[in-house]
Amino acid sequence: MANEFTNVDAEQLKHCWTQRRLSRDPLDLSGVWRYREILPFIDYRQHTPITLREGNTPLLEAPHAATYAGLERVEFKHQGYNPTASFKDNGMTVGVTKAAALGMKRVACVSTGNTSASMAAYAAAAGMQAIIFIPHGNIAYGKLAQALEYGAVTLQIKANFDQILSLVRQVAERLKIYLLNSINPFRIEGQKTIAVELLDQRAWKVPDWIVVPGGNLGNISALGKALRELRALGMIENCPRLVVVQAECSAPFEELFTRGIGALKPVEKPETLATAIRIGDPVSWPKALQEVTDSTGVVEKVTEQEIADAKAIIGRCGIGCEPASAATLAGIRRLVEKGTISKKEDVVAILTGHVLKDPDFVHGYHTTGLRAPNGEFINSRFGNKPVVMPNDVEEIEAFLRQSTR
Ligand SMILES: *Cc1c(COP(=O)(O)O)cnc(C)c1O
Repeated sequence: MANEFTNVDAEQLKHCWTQRRLSRDPLDLSGVWRYREILPFIDYRQHTPITLREGNTPLLEAPHAATYAGLERVEFKHQGYNPTASFKDNGMTVGVTKAAALGMKRVACVSTGNTSASMAAYAAAAGMQAIIFIPHGNIAYGKLAQALEYGAVTLQIKANFDQILSLVRQVAERLKIYLLNSINPFRIEGQKTIAVELLDQRAWKVPDWIVVPGGNLGNISALGKALRELRALGMIENCPRLVVVQAECSAPFEELFTRGIGALKPVEKPETLATAIRIGDPVSWPKALQEVTDSTGVVEKVTEQEIADAKAIIGRCGIGCEPASAATLAGIRRLVEKGTISKKEDVVAILTGHVLKDPDFVHGYHTTGLRAPNGEFINSRFGNKPVVMPNDVEEIEAFLRQSTR
């Protein structure tokens, strides 16, 4: 990989990427394609990328969340600010662009979540047909709603995830449909730009730690690859330590990391309310293990209660995110408690999706109706219930005088 970059001057490239922020070219306005030098597999004279102005996501200070985790400060790189409100857009713009360059007219994936929402949007923008396969009776309505709105053909199949995956592979081959599942290498390439933009925003100051939630482990693989490439380019001198956080009952990667040897043992029935990381057999575990180990990073797991509380704290910062994203703050809190991360260290967490992706979770937590998959109620420690009041100025005044934050 480094060979493609041997003639590139690191300082020149940094300057070029900064200058592109002043441009009106749609490619320069994209927080993915602005960094196209690290996406060298598209012939830009022949093919115009399919962009919806993805990336360009903010790096946000969150003092209240830092205090909660026991840190002096923490920053959130919020990928929920993307066009379809998750980091999947960083990869999908590249995956769909590649499909278009190959002359494909149809793209497909198996997903009930953010992948299908993102694929549907980019396929629509490219004038392609999006085909989404979902397991029957296992539908996440919030995210599926986006896919329907963007015009994706949605097929509900009476079979489990693995059976559907094998079915989709056969159909894709017969009908020349391009598959955009999480092993698609171009999606991973696009997701590299999350790390690049993050460092660009920090004027190339490398944090001590970068923390991500882990499901299929594509995002951590992309992050590690990006950092290695930036180092090969001479754009950074050292790499941050990488942390993956999983939900307690969907944590095969944490189990493998703790065991320290052998292969990943899939979790038969993964469970968590953080549906984006409810994955029992993550495809990208070998790459992910390599990246975490090489960075002298760690893998942590957190409970449903910890995820829910961390999410409410992120909300109180005025930021908000979906449950999977909040696993990062919960994981940081544990690692500070254990002494793995120290109070003064420079920590960036990637918030992967928007708070409105899962409004049922939010409403449940704040009105004390949220149940964990094991049936137990989640304690709404930071709950914020609506208050029923009579139509009476005096009573409302009295209530508001005594309610101070
Ligand atoms: C896809 C997704 C994840 C998990 O990312 P992986 O690359 O599968 O590890 C986490 N959070 C959100 C919101 C997601 O959409």
